[in-house]
Amino acid sequence: MGKRVLVGYGIDVDAVSGWLNTRTGARANPTDVSRGIFGATVGIDRLLKLWEKFGIKTTWFVPAHSIESFPEQLAKVRDAGHEIGLHGYTHEFVGTLTEKQQRDILTKSIDILTKFTGKKPKGWTAPAWDTSKKTIKLLEEFGIEYDHSFMHHDSQMYYAPSGSESWVETNVEKEASTWMTPMTALKPSSIVEVPANWHLDDWPPFQLSLKQASTHGYVDTRVVEQLWKDQFDYLYREYDSFIFPMSIHPQVSGKPQVKLMHERLFEYINNHEGVEWVTMEEMVHEFKAGTFGGIEVKGGADV
Ligand SMILES: [Zn+2]
Repeated sequence: MGKRVLVGYGIDVDAVSGWLNTRTGARANPTDVSRGIFGATVGIDRLLKLWEKFGIKTTWFVPAHSIESFPEQLAKVRDAGHEIGLHGYTHEFVGTLTEKQQRDILTKSIDILTKFTGKKPKGWTAPAWDTSKKTIKLLEEFGIEYDHSFMHHDSQMYYAPSGSESWVETNVEKEASTWMTPMTALKPSSIVEVPANWHLDDWPPFQLSLKQASTHGYVDTRVVEQLWKDQFDYLYREYDSFIFPMSIHPQVSGKPQVKLMHERLFEYINNHEGVEWVTMEEMVHEFKAGTFGGIEVKGGADV
């Protein structure tokens, strides 16, 4: 049997929302906000042109704030037939929020995306991949089909464990005996996980932010291109079937030097037998239908 590789781009249209600091209340820098506007306008246009040239459909994770602020730009994405998924309202880090706040954001953003696209979104990715212990349970409750935030594997889909709230956190104010207990057994949920991967993300190497210690901004695109190719080569050698989801942002990959990197990467990956360019929704559809394999995540103990 030949190889089958499902390759897909997840495009996070954080735009202005990621620079507003609603999460912390810190001052928003108007220059940073302008970078978000660049992403939502120039960045989106350049990426749409690229996908059209490649002849592929992709998945756009869009904070509802971006849809309400740039409806004409996102209409181009929608009308070109790309998938639109959830990414918060103003790019909130859900791990810092109360359960009620998480619910309110899901309710409002699902409503806005549903009205905008005419159908309920199927997928969600956590802003900055900052999840909460309630994430999977809430996605199930809100009828979402898949998540793209966790990292139990790097190239195989699986049903996300819902027991992720079962570990005990250490607390220096308590006796050590209070936390010396194993994690309880992981139990699969109904949410399909399309695993996230920081090493297939354009933000940390290519985005300069004076406030985000994890960003760099001056990494040679050929260094990152090799890093992404090496991951692809290993997986292609070791697996008969695997997925290769890449995460990018219009305000980063819309820059000339990064756009050229994607052109080279596309040529390289596309030259392999068995490669298909799909949306994450299509990956998940195949996994649920049993036409594309995956793994089972095991761990923990029944205590
Ligand atoms: Zn984001």
